[in-house]
Amino acid sequence: MTIFDPTRSSASAPTRNGAEQSAPLQQPAAAKTDSAYTTALAQFDRAAQILNLDAGMASMLRSCKRELTVNFPVKMDNGEIRRFTGYRVHHNTARGPTKGGIRYSPHVDLDEVRALAMWMTWKCAVVNIPYGGAKGGVVCNPKELSARELEGLTRRYTTEITPFISPEGDIPAPDMGTNPQIMAWMMDTYSMHRGYSVPAIVTGKPVNIGGSAGRFEATGRGIMFVVREAHRSFGWNFDGIRVAVQGFGNVGSITAQTAHEMGCKVIAVSDVEGGIFNPHGIDIPRLRRYMREHHTVQGFDGADKITNAELLELPCDVLVPAAMENQITGANAARIKARMVAEGANGPTTPEADEMLMANNVLVIPDILCNAGGVIVSYFEWVQSLQQLFWEEDDVTHRLERILIRSFHDVYELSVRMDLDLRTAALVLGIGRVAEATQTRGLYP
Ligand code: NAD
Repeated sequence: MTIFDPTRSSASAPTRNGAEQSAPLQQPAAAKTDSAYTTALAQFDRAAQILNLDAGMASMLRSCKRELTVNFPVKMDNGEIRRFTGYRVHHNTARGPTKGGIRYSPHVDLDEVRALAMWMTWKCAVVNIPYGGAKGGVVCNPKELSARELEGLTRRYTTEITPFISPEGDIPAPDMGTNPQIMAWMMDTYSMHRGYSVPAIVTGKPVNIGGSAGRFEATGRGIMFVVREAHRSFGWNFDGIRVAVQGFGNVGSITAQTAHEMGCKVIAVSDVEGGIFNPHGIDIPRLRRYMREHHTVQGFDGADKITNAELLELPCDVLVPAAMENQITGANAARIKARMVAEGANGPTTPEADEMLMANNVLVIPDILCNAGGVIVSYFEWVQSLQQLFWEEDDVTHRLERILIRSFHDVYELSVRMDLDLRTAALVLGIGRVAEATQTRGLYP
């Protein structure tokens, strides 16, 4: 059975978008509202049209399979009881158990979690690991909570979503605002309910309780593996390229560190409070030591202050948005001067901005390929936790690099074969694989 028929072929050189110059494909109007969910749906509709999915299949894949909202109490340090709202959404299970991070943010809502869950499904399919997509979140500002309050919130949220998660069915991981310590509390809470340790219930755990070597570094390292491979494939110089990174959390800081180790010049980084810029390159190892002490990049003496908006518009070779969604929009896309945008965050570019970047010949490496390193090593961690057999970091990193290079070429070659930009090619590949799995499994009952 064929879900899609990539019949067109050509051998001419790619543009920066990894596709050939050709007549633009017919596509639905870009979503006007800049929300992650409208972006995810607009992207899906475009790929579904190219794949020629039948209406029933498209309607299933466009919707989330299960959605859970929980309201739960937490005792605060001042003795007050506060109510928090959390979510866990399973988008699709056709290719395996669902996998996806937990986000702690004051802005998280059900639509955002749906979008992120949907992207996880396509991402796991693009890199061909046996998972479907999920996501979770709690509406809170973790920076305003004490360690005790954060632990209480995490343990109660885990308890509330226990019917939804399991090592065989749905495996959470860290995302924005959560970290290995929070995964440790989730794992411990779930294990207390079971009466024995269940390390495979989450990934992104600390290594001393069964986490994987190289998991913390996986997303950032993976981004730079893909960026380097793209440069090799397009015949672009990689040595000493100028990189700007928005966000200096897990993804942003490791991307910057890896870029620095690969000989790139990291000229700007930022966090929620603003950015810093040094055209000669920022000393990233020193900045990371500064960050550990000050918890912000602000005030670092090796660079000048800039805003987050200015960072995005700097002249550079590679721009890595690694903070949150909807950062490159119709309002600023025309001013992006980078040659390549490598999406570290999920959904940082709106469909409208995508078209503007393409028109300006800015190559976008899409999130569902570019930042997949995290879920790939989460998969390795899950396998190690299930088997209680642990791998060396070198082994983890080499396997990660192999999968990402193969996946980059899968997407790139499809983009050339079907005259598509890289995002659409990645979506067509991922959604096509999920549709095929759905069809192969058949309809129950
Ligand atoms: P994090 O919480 O560790 O870091 C987020 C960073 O973004 C922080 O430096 C924060 O100060 C900054 N930030 C927050 N709001 C901002 C704003 N409005 N403007 C500029 N900077 C802002 O989160 P993370 O795990 O690094 O995740 C970042 C992004 O990468 C998210 O979109 C997440 O979904 C995505 N992602 C994460 C992983 C992972 O393994 N952690 C994997 C794939 C994708």
